Amino acid sequence: MEIPVNKSILAANEDIAAANRHFLHQRGIYAVNLISSPGAGKTTLLERTVATLGPEIPLAVIEGDIETSLDADRVRRHGAPAVQINTAGNCHLDARMVREGLAQLDLDGVKLVLIENVGNLICPAGFDLGEHEKVVLVSVTEGEDKPPKYPHIFLESAAMIINKIDLLPYCDCDLAKLKEGALRINPRLRVFEVSCRTGEGLEKWYAWLRQQVAQSEPAEAGG
Ligand code: MG
Ligand code: ZN
Repeated sequence: MEIPVNKSILAANEDIAAANRHFLHQRGIYAVNLISSPGAGKTTLLERTVATLGPEIPLAVIEGDIETSLDADRVRRHGAPAVQINTAGNCHLDARMVREGLAQLDLDGVKLVLIENVGNLICPAGFDLGEHEKVVLVSVTEGEDKPPKYPHIFLESAAMIINKIDLLPYCDCDLAKLKEGALRINPRLRVFEVSCRTGEGLEKWYAWLRQQVAQSEPAEAGG
């Protein structure tokens, strides 16, 4: 990609992202941009999160995929309003797509928007969507070398969720090395070790999200 083109695309994206951020802020909505490689478990994490937090925190989901509405269908089954954005070949969501997704959702009373980015650890790191935080998800089946190979996303994220810890006995992932590698890039990273299959460790993730949402409440509503 030519650098000047890249620069102008990113500059245009920044403007729309800022507008999205303002839109969300005014409504007291906390938004997470969930990023991982394909198959790490983003949709399963969202299904679990929606099932658990949905009854206590009004939430909505934006699903990004190159094709199909399979993931939005999965999330809707757990009772959350979800819109599917098909990027038509694009390997990441951009702020314009998220603006369209937000416009399609009924956000009345919503406090939390969960955005599932396209499965890709590379360019989603460079595209601000207007979210409050990026959260990177890695699974132990991918091995421990993702942080040094894709440092940008670990640097940009507020939290790292390590998924599929129930499979640790069956794979060669060095968990300590994985965490060490990520924290070397970003010492402020919150780390959650979970299994979205068994539910192990997810309570801490829910607690963190609850806290993030509470902190985003508009000051006048906080009493
Ligand atoms: Mg998915
Ligand atoms: Zn991309």
